[in-house]
Amino acid sequence: MSSKTTIPTLIKTIMVVSSPSLLVLSFFAIMGELNFSYFVYGYIGIMLVSTVFVMPFLSNISALTYYVNDLALDKRVRAPDLSFLSNVAELSGALGRLQRSWENKRQEMETVITEREILVDTLPDILIMTNDDKMIVRTNRAARNIFGQNLAHRHLQDVIPNEQLINAISAVIEDLHGQEIEFQLGEPYVKDFQAIIERFPIPSEGGISVVITLTDITQQKRIQRMRADFVANASHEIRTPLASIIGFIETLRGPAKDDPVARDEFLKVMADQAERMSKLVNDLLSLSKIEMNAHAAPIGKVDVLRIIRAEKQHFEWACKQKNVSLKVKLNDTLPPTKGDDEELAQVIRNLIGNAVKYTNPDTEVVLTAKLTSALPEDPVFRNLSRAICFSVQDHGEGISKEHIPRLTERFYRVDTARTRKVGGTGLGLAIVKHVLNRHHGVLTIESEIGQGSTFSVYLPVYDDISSGRPENKPETVA
Ligand code: ADP
Repeated sequence: MSSKTTIPTLIKTIMVVSSPSLLVLSFFAIMGELNFSYFVYGYIGIMLVSTVFVMPFLSNISALTYYVNDLALDKRVRAPDLSFLSNVAELSGALGRLQRSWENKRQEMETVITEREILVDTLPDILIMTNDDKMIVRTNRAARNIFGQNLAHRHLQDVIPNEQLINAISAVIEDLHGQEIEFQLGEPYVKDFQAIIERFPIPSEGGISVVITLTDITQQKRIQRMRADFVANASHEIRTPLASIIGFIETLRGPAKDDPVARDEFLKVMADQAERMSKLVNDLLSLSKIEMNAHAAPIGKVDVLRIIRAEKQHFEWACKQKNVSLKVKLNDTLPPTKGDDEELAQVIRNLIGNAVKYTNPDTEVVLTAKLTSALPEDPVFRNLSRAICFSVQDHGEGISKEHIPRLTERFYRVDTARTRKVGGTGLGLAIVKHVLNRHHGVLTIESEIGQGSTFSVYLPVYDDISSGRPENKPETVA
């Protein structure tokens, strides 16, 4: 007997199968044609024979039942051998086909689920799904990369402790309308985020009720703040000389109307202020022009030595005023660099100009230009073995260390009063940095208090990059 066929089923089946024989035997026994002991032996014999015939059928039916049950439980099983149920065997074939079709459907579903998971994981935005209690149900890779690996089953408040976000989620849970907010996360993240909070559109078996998408807008916000600061600084820089000119005009029209000495003096100051404004406007225009071309790589062949020699001439008068001697130590020849002639001239002009401005009277400013293999630590030069190096060394008061990283920020000055006195706009080094970014060049600043400073510009050699540009310089806009 098959272990799958139960005894009660077997007895019931035999009773049913042998019931016609029992009726016939009973008829003969009632008619007196069969005595009782023959009736009993006969019936036992019939039951035994019925058992032998019924067993294979029962075992086939039982196997079929188990097979269907296994299919219902999504198990991968082989179709049973139903040789005793010849007509039912077709059913087994049909079930086999059904199983294969289920199998295909399941594989399709698994592929769709895997694709969706990959899609969600590769999204650059952070995706967090919570239930109505704000417990995290699912996250994508971007979320885990920022907030840690084990986020599931944690309360959102513990992962992103921001009241504004939590309140917005509560509002979405209550009134079912999506919300969009911006918020800032403090330590250890220090990031600005834009959050889109939506109600999950269908009832979810996994318990998802809210989907939160976070976009990192730190950079965007930084640029916005920088723009606002820039406009405020630029307006301030222009307003100061303008106010001074207006003041002098009023004085000249009023109290100093008939005072020729005062008039001469005031006109000189006004001319200085007007020149300062004009310099500022020129520098602002240069910056904006360089920024506009920031993503178009320059293509010209530039002879740095020629530019240095030409620019040096412009400072002879300023040097004479301070009794500063401008010394040059230039290599006889230098290979060309790839760039824009006028922009590189501006870099050299600004650096020589600063050195002459900030060096002490009766000292020397030394200009050096050479081909060097001692390259600064910078990704731009990772694949290069040499560069053109132009340095300007002055003997001024020097710059203390904390100021050096900020010197290329727009309008950053170490000593505002002193810089204004020497006619600085606070934009010269910002222009240098922007030009160098575009030229895949690097600026280094070394300074000793009381000794002076050396500003060096490194530029790649034309032939080293003409076949392909060096690694992109990261955008570090100040
Ligand atoms: P500015 O037009 O005011 O000189 P820059 O952007 O060229 O603006 O320089 C920014 C600040 O860096 C200056 O205000 C000055 O404080 C400092 N600085 C620049 N070059 C030198 C230098 N050679 N020696 C000392 N300080 C310098």
